[in-house]
Amino acid sequence: MTKKVVSIIGSGRTGSTLLMLILGSHPECFALGEISKLYRYYKKKQALCGICLGTCSFWEQQFTKTELDRLTAVLGKTRLNPLIPLQLEKKVREIFHLDGVFNAYSSIFEKLSKTVLIDSSKEVDWVKERYKAKEFTAGKIQNYLIHMVRDGRATMSSKLRITPGLTATEFSHQWAKRIKETNEFFDKFPSERKMVIRYEKFITENQETLQSLCQLLQIKYVPEMAQYWKHDHHPIAGNTGTRSLILKYRNEEATAVQNQVQQRQGNYYDNMGLKLKLDLRWKNELSSEKLEVFQRIAGEFNKPFEWNK
Ligand SMILES: [Zn+2]
Repeated sequence: MTKKVVSIIGSGRTGSTLLMLILGSHPECFALGEISKLYRYYKKKQALCGICLGTCSFWEQQFTKTELDRLTAVLGKTRLNPLIPLQLEKKVREIFHLDGVFNAYSSIFEKLSKTVLIDSSKEVDWVKERYKAKEFTAGKIQNYLIHMVRDGRATMSSKLRITPGLTATEFSHQWAKRIKETNEFFDKFPSERKMVIRYEKFITENQETLQSLCQLLQIKYVPEMAQYWKHDHHPIAGNTGTRSLILKYRNEEATAVQNQVQQRQGNYYDNMGLKLKLDLRWKNELSSEKLEVFQRIAGEFNKPFEWNK
């Protein structure tokens, strides 16, 4: 079976962590999380895995230090060897057929008995860079693109909630630019390997959405995948609220993640229970001034994403 990498792109604050974990709960799939951050976390000696407390049984136990050094260097686009320029090392390795190391996803597949990796890094530039690797250009791995979208007003509310000092004007410009870039990249991608997923539909018509996603990826639909908190995950970074649900389910003590969520979100996630719930808090949270600003700057881009139910 051909290996697949699913790249989730979009503006952020759209439920991409949730989607990544649910897809990653399918027996064929593994959730990488925001692997674009792996290099930075590794360099700074921060915890790599958003779930494991202490040593991660995947990232830190399945890879040797040398392997992790190499993988993170490739993802961070830095030298594998401090004394040798990256481009030179690439050329020399190609000559001796030792350039497999530059195929980051293949290196990860080697550590797993899965056929699909889910990357929720979300940035188009990151995805473009990854797709240049031989593992894709030589057809060893098939790439799939998911554009996760959500009503921009909900995204704004969510982003302003966690970003002190960010104004509605700044957000609206950033969001419109991001949507434009993402649309441009998405439009050019082969139609048989891509899908737009609306957050609101994903929550309210979860089973149908997952069925079409499984169909797209040519994997069997498994209803249990929706209960992502029951499965084993080792994602890099991601949305802390969603991760806190997993920790809660596992009945772990208040962790740094949960404390952080408590500070930012009050007890929203505590009251949510272990089920999917459509988050429409923006309707109460955004002032008419902020809504006007958003409408004026980004309204045109938000037209197809508006959820007025
Ligand atoms: Zn882990």
